[in-house]
Amino acid sequence: MFSQTIETPIQVIDWLAWTKLGVQVSIKREDTIHPFISGNKWRKLKYVLQEARVNNKTHLVSFGGAYSNHLVALANAGAQYGFKTTAFVRGEEVHNHMLGLCKCWGMELIFVSRDAYRNKQKLFDDYSGTSKQMLMIDEGGRGASAAKGCEEILDDVEGYTHVCCAVGTGTTLAGLAIAAQRKNIIAEGFCVLKGAEEIEDDIRVLTNKHTSFVMHHQFHFGGYAKSDEAMMPFIQTFAKETGILLDQVYTAKMVRGVDELIKQGHYPYGSKILLIHTGGLLGLLSMI
Ligand SMILES: *Cc1c(COP(=O)(O)O)cnc(C)c1O
Repeated sequence: MFSQTIETPIQVIDWLAWTKLGVQVSIKREDTIHPFISGNKWRKLKYVLQEARVNNKTHLVSFGGAYSNHLVALANAGAQYGFKTTAFVRGEEVHNHMLGLCKCWGMELIFVSRDAYRNKQKLFDDYSGTSKQMLMIDEGGRGASAAKGCEEILDDVEGYTHVCCAVGTGTTLAGLAIAAQRKNIIAEGFCVLKGAEEIEDDIRVLTNKHTSFVMHHQFHFGGYAKSDEAMMPFIQTFAKETGILLDQVYTAKMVRGVDELIKQGHYPYGSKILLIHTGGLLGLLSMI
């Protein structure tokens, strides 16, 4: 289960607007790992599920919003590898294609108020009772084991000056930053939440005090799951010219951020930037 090492293709993006400024941009297609356990979610679940198996956990309990890529990934992985799955979903009961997929794979969905959702430990404790078979997996699959899986994104990578990714919980950036430091690459995160400077502290908990990374907070485009009127046109232009789809919640914000920073001269002439495509494409369907 999740035991293989995975190498994903790297695609060069020949955008004149970028190359004429002396910057070479490539994108690592982590979105190609799996149709449903997509991108960084596969990396984040790898060690979590291996540990669950070793510790005889048979029932995985997690948390997320109604459009959570993490819940879709967990539901699919649970069905594939023989774990029961339950999710506490934030907010009123809704139905959409993401939660519909979760149900297809047998995930039990429990909708809870935003208030109750804040105390995840209590939700888990009340639900699990005395059962020892359940494993609590934090929202978005965040945590140290998940960051360890994300380090492996850079295993097959050499020769870049910068690596960039979208930031939700910061777990992916934490793993990337640890691996990037070993390879003399600068790790940059693009936060998709508004006013979430405290995520940097979460990342420091997952790395160590010598690990450095850069966080950009000005590319949230209105906040989590929000965007502006230029978002869909950007996604369409990028898709048309590269063949690559981006999602509006994470990866498009990162690529737009990189685009702006290149034009502002943030990256020195000769920089070789590797974008991490962390997946999330099912989320795009809600916007199309
Ligand atoms: C979940 C997700 C992220 C955020 O990853 P974190 O490790 O929580 O920062 C980024 N991109 C996509 C497509 C995601 O689904």
